[in-house]
Amino acid sequence: MTRPPEREFLNTSQADWLTLEEELGGDRDGIHNFEIHHTARYREASVCRPVLDEEMLRRDPSVAERIRWPEGRRFAAFLSHDVDGTREHCREQLARLIRTNADAATTVRDKLRALSAVIGLRHRRGRRDLLSPWLEAEKERGFTSTFFVFPTAVSARHPRDLMYHWDDLMPFEGGLQPIRAVFAQVAARGWEVGLHGSIESAHTTGLLEAQRLDVEQAVGAPVTSGRQHNLQFGAAVTPDLLAASGLRVDCTLGSNRSVFFRTGTSYPHRLWSVGGQAWLNVLEIPLILHDGALLRGDNMDLSPESALAFCRGVIARVAAVRGVVSLLWHPENLVKPGYYDLYCSLLDVLREEGAWGTSARNIADWWESSGNAALVDDARRRHFAAGRMA
Ligand SMILES: [Zn+2]
Repeated sequence: MTRPPEREFLNTSQADWLTLEEELGGDRDGIHNFEIHHTARYREASVCRPVLDEEMLRRDPSVAERIRWPEGRRFAAFLSHDVDGTREHCREQLARLIRTNADAATTVRDKLRALSAVIGLRHRRGRRDLLSPWLEAEKERGFTSTFFVFPTAVSARHPRDLMYHWDDLMPFEGGLQPIRAVFAQVAARGWEVGLHGSIESAHTTGLLEAQRLDVEQAVGAPVTSGRQHNLQFGAAVTPDLLAASGLRVDCTLGSNRSVFFRTGTSYPHRLWSVGGQAWLNVLEIPLILHDGALLRGDNMDLSPESALAFCRGVIARVAAVRGVVSLLWHPENLVKPGYYDLYCSLLDVLREEGAWGTSARNIADWWESSGNAALVDDARRRHFAAGRMA
């Protein structure tokens, strides 16, 4: 590479520092800009690494060596899907959304805007099965996953809540079936059905347990894992609300917009009660890789090729500490180019790298019964014996 003349007075390290990484080529976003997500500095940054796990590995390599996964696997992948949509152009859901938005509107202008969505009711309801391909991709590779579904019995509805009901029909395996029947079958096949809690349930007392029981009753299987819709999470209140709801696993702590290890670790860990100043019996499996964060135009906006390379790096770091890498892919994104193919490529990477790809429930059960939880908690106490780690 030829250095521009105005940089010739700089010594080598300064010149290197001032060299734009993008001069070397690399990916661009949807409007051809070079952004932070395209830089090596971001990919290598502490937010993109399980820094606590890496530090523990540095201080005591025997901890990672003693972590065990089933069948001698190297690490685990928590595979998950937030069911934010069940059918393309579902008229029933759109009609409920229009009604909710119109009721919530406080000005004539907002009410008219809400009602203008009525034009969408002219679309033909979709017949494409948005669910089966994900199940098949996982089954082919010997994996399972968790589907987080939204309850129907929701008080204090928020306009960003989801509007599907148990008796709405969705395309599944060649026909149309009520949503409750589809997810009852998914649960019966060994996949996990968890709760996708409503917006207000993350902040308001007394909503989450009713929602958990609603899903449990609809699908006829115990519901013990949850992820809050839109990743709503108030650190001062949500952990206590989760504990009181009967959920024992939460999978919310991640990002809608980017990739980062929000708690600095890939290992499952218990949630902290700010009010009670104590650890709760709710295990957090942090969210790491999220389809919308990686690919959406208003987020990282990576090309599928660039996203695959980025995710490979993250997976390698989690494999090195023998932790859990979480993937969230939304079933309704099947219709968006590149989303499903990237998921399948990542499943292949996970299989090649020796991951155990499974549900939140299976990971939580294994983490606690295998001794991994006690091992890592003890190591955290020994190596990070300050503040509440003590
Ligand atoms: Zn959601």
